Amino acid sequence: MQLTTTLSTQLKPKPDENNLGFGIHFTDHMFNMDYHPEKGWHNPRIEPYAPFVMDPSTMVLHYGQGIFEGLKAYRTARGKIQLFRPQNNLKRLNYSAHKLCIPQIDEAFALQALKELIRVEKKWVPSAPGTSLYIRPTIVATDPFLGVRASHTYRFFIILSPVGAYYPEGFNPVKIMVTRDYVRAVRGGLGDTKTLGNYAASLLAGEKAHEAGYTQVLWLDGIEQKYVEEVGSMNILFVIDNQVVTPMLNGSILPGVTRASVLALAKSWGMSTSERRISIDEVFAAHKSGALTEIFGSGTAAVISPVGELKYEQETITIGNGKAGPVAQRLFDTMVDIQYGRAEDPMGWIEPVD
Ligand SMILES: *Cc1c(COP(=O)(O)O)cnc(C)c1O
Repeated sequence: MQLTTTLSTQLKPKPDENNLGFGIHFTDHMFNMDYHPEKGWHNPRIEPYAPFVMDPSTMVLHYGQGIFEGLKAYRTARGKIQLFRPQNNLKRLNYSAHKLCIPQIDEAFALQALKELIRVEKKWVPSAPGTSLYIRPTIVATDPFLGVRASHTYRFFIILSPVGAYYPEGFNPVKIMVTRDYVRAVRGGLGDTKTLGNYAASLLAGEKAHEAGYTQVLWLDGIEQKYVEEVGSMNILFVIDNQVVTPMLNGSILPGVTRASVLALAKSWGMSTSERRISIDEVFAAHKSGALTEIFGSGTAAVISPVGELKYEQETITIGNGKAGPVAQRLFDTMVDIQYGRAEDPMGWIEPVD
């Protein structure tokens, strides 16, 4: 397949690097590619960022047959641009595609196209501390049709957004509330995919948590409402008796790239790790006995997000002394040092762009 590039003649002014926020600004160009049953994926192109014209009956708008990914490009001190494990995101995109009856993409081609798009937009990769270029690959069903079936046609697009530092005020723990009123996903469902509806399903619980003064919810499993699954839209990890413990991938948990990286790093430091079922009762018991020393979330946006306070039913516990723990801090520092090229990359996680 031949990638074509059409450059924009009207470049936007660049936003202030010290005030980027998240997902607000978009670059001058985007990647688009279409799927048709007779042509397969075809017409891959980089072109000016522009709105879509869509028939109101477009399937994704009605039945949510759409998937996405989230990853970042980082600018190193030497001015180079690099990606962190992008192959894992493209592989996961294909896994999500499989579960939503969306045709598979060529992962190697998609990576080449992504790198070319970033090269076209290299001036948009910010260099202020902690900033990055957020990348949003997305595939949506495009048949204009209201019957319930898998679409026959699709659009794959990639948009880019320069984003600010996640921790402008320092690496501070958040307050989390366990919800028993709502579940995010169930085994056999789509919880292990990055699909649109999962985020719609999480909104009301998130709003209730905000109203109660919490940053996010901790999700329990959808069947027994007993086992810990995720925190907000991050994976969750615990340090119990010096072991890094995280819920095993059971079909309703999103297999995070950050989660996998954190487990690999902890192992490489000689720490014990365990992927298993962990009940919310065990978490509270481990806190009482003093064995639980840290809780943190993991995800591309924050890398590591320490949990300082956890509320479940009538009980609230404080983890550590409300400060980030040593394991969370070391994982965060090591991950961002690798991502920004300040540390060696012994695992081969970095993919250079230019
Ligand atoms: C994206 C996501 C994560 C984190 O995945 P990363 O690959 O580490 O960014 C965790 N949970 C949910 C529900 C997600 O959508």
